[in-house]
Amino acid sequence: DETPLWLFADQLGPHFRGGDLAGRPIVLVESAHAFAHKRFHRQKLHLVLAGMRQLAAELGDQVTLVRAENYRAGLAEFGSPVVVHEPHSRAADRLVRRLRDEGVVTEIRPTPGFTRSKADFAEWARDRHRYLMEDFYRDQRRRLGILVEGDGEPVGGRWNFDHENRKPPPKQRTLDVPKPWHPRENEIDEQVRADLDRMARDGRISPVGVDGPRRFAVTRAEARRALKRFLDDRLPTFGPYQDAMLGDDWAMSHALLSVPLNLGLLDPLDVAEQAAARYEDGSAPLACVEGFVRQILGWREWVWQLYWHLGPDYLDHNRLQACEPVPRWWLELEPEAVTAHCLRTALTGVRDRGYAHHIERLMVLGNHALQRGYRPRELTEWFATAFVDGFPWVMPANVIGMSQYADGGIVATKPYAAGGAYVNRMSDHCRRCEFDPKVRVGENACPFTAGYWAFLDRNAGRLKDNHRMRRPLDGLARLSDLPAVVDQEHRRDHF
Ligand code: FAD
Repeated sequence: DETPLWLFADQLGPHFRGGDLAGRPIVLVESAHAFAHKRFHRQKLHLVLAGMRQLAAELGDQVTLVRAENYRAGLAEFGSPVVVHEPHSRAADRLVRRLRDEGVVTEIRPTPGFTRSKADFAEWARDRHRYLMEDFYRDQRRRLGILVEGDGEPVGGRWNFDHENRKPPPKQRTLDVPKPWHPRENEIDEQVRADLDRMARDGRISPVGVDGPRRFAVTRAEARRALKRFLDDRLPTFGPYQDAMLGDDWAMSHALLSVPLNLGLLDPLDVAEQAAARYEDGSAPLACVEGFVRQILGWREWVWQLYWHLGPDYLDHNRLQACEPVPRWWLELEPEAVTAHCLRTALTGVRDRGYAHHIERLMVLGNHALQRGYRPRELTEWFATAFVDGFPWVMPANVIGMSQYADGGIVATKPYAAGGAYVNRMSDHCRRCEFDPKVRVGENACPFTAGYWAFLDRNAGRLKDNHRMRRPLDGLARLSDLPAVVDQEHRRDHF
């Protein structure tokens, strides 16, 4: 069978064209609609376009790169039926099925982009009334044989090192790690930049964020280099400081691999195996390696599976009845409109790089949105478009579930709401901030601290049956200045 292979822009790695697909003609479609129908971050458009064009350049005659209004038109121009992998979004999945009914797609193969099939996950989930990431993750480790002994027990006797992996930043306020890997741009980047400039001038796209040097890997060779540099330089400090923030260090010990992973350039099992090997050869501590494997084979695979498993209506959950529109300064990425140092820093990262690390996403951006009651669906759209690694499948569990508790506890056991004291403990932001994390009322009242109590007050009724919220709610009941806090936060229009 020599049916050509149609690859989406998030299926760029060699594992998407191996086995009996090796050597087949490949078609890539640059769909104008896919670029223009939402306001993506400028640097995200760059990464996706550059990834496709680099692959086309690399594989030469094997690849036909079609520029068209949309996928359907692109395939029509290509002119012969294609085989495809199951796509990574519902919209693309619907399209591919329609194209199969029409004979344009001859076959839909399972995606090799994740370690487990949807059917297999459905079976795992079938007899459970609660889905716990931890259960799934342990099952993954056993199934895939990562960091497990022959008897299926975890190497080192423990599955979970979260306790060791939640350290505040070191006192000297710097992590002693080399700068992260960064790519060298080439003529394809130049072309992409010129094309995007032209599209923006012609009003065909109106991206958010600023342009900047490309920071993430878009080819297989780059992705391998980025992975190796992470494993060599950062994995040994990845664990303890996973949750820490430093205002002058946007990357900390993070992997910066979400872009190449989500573009399909790295095989997640291979990434996890390489990390595990670093423990086995003694070059990285178990807690760090476990913490990283947990992200790759646990969290990442978990949110992928939940995207399909929880269904399209999951996005409509709004258990806390959050109904504030996401403000303009947020959508337009205007950090200069923000005073709180933590929030301004995270938003600056999104504007300048389309990136913020996990704890900035969850405990600064997400926490703020949760406290202020921004509409979950709008927020989801924002996370999916304003970040370089944003894709539809990542959103529901992370935004609706984890960060906004809009599902009422399907994904997280309690809302990730926290006051300024948390930010102060885990970062060096507060010392440089005009607000004081200890102050609840007045000019310098920290919007996170006051916002936390106002959030609890607003949602006390909805959260009262959650036993993990008992202590915070008891604290709320004892707060003597609560009326003043609530009144102030109700009127606050500056953060
Ligand atoms: P590291 O912190 O070094 O982690 C290593 C890898 O683990 C990441 O590259 C990623 O592939 C994976 N990973 C870890 N946690 C998650 C998770 N919860 N979900 C999925 N993958 C995970 N991740 C995205 O890939 N795209 C997104 O659009 C995205 N949006 C998020 C929005 C919110 C509100 C939250 C709370 C999390 C989001 N995440 C998203 C997850 C996580 O924050 C990013 O994967 C991570 O910050 C990417 O940076 P890194 O590669 O340096 O990751």
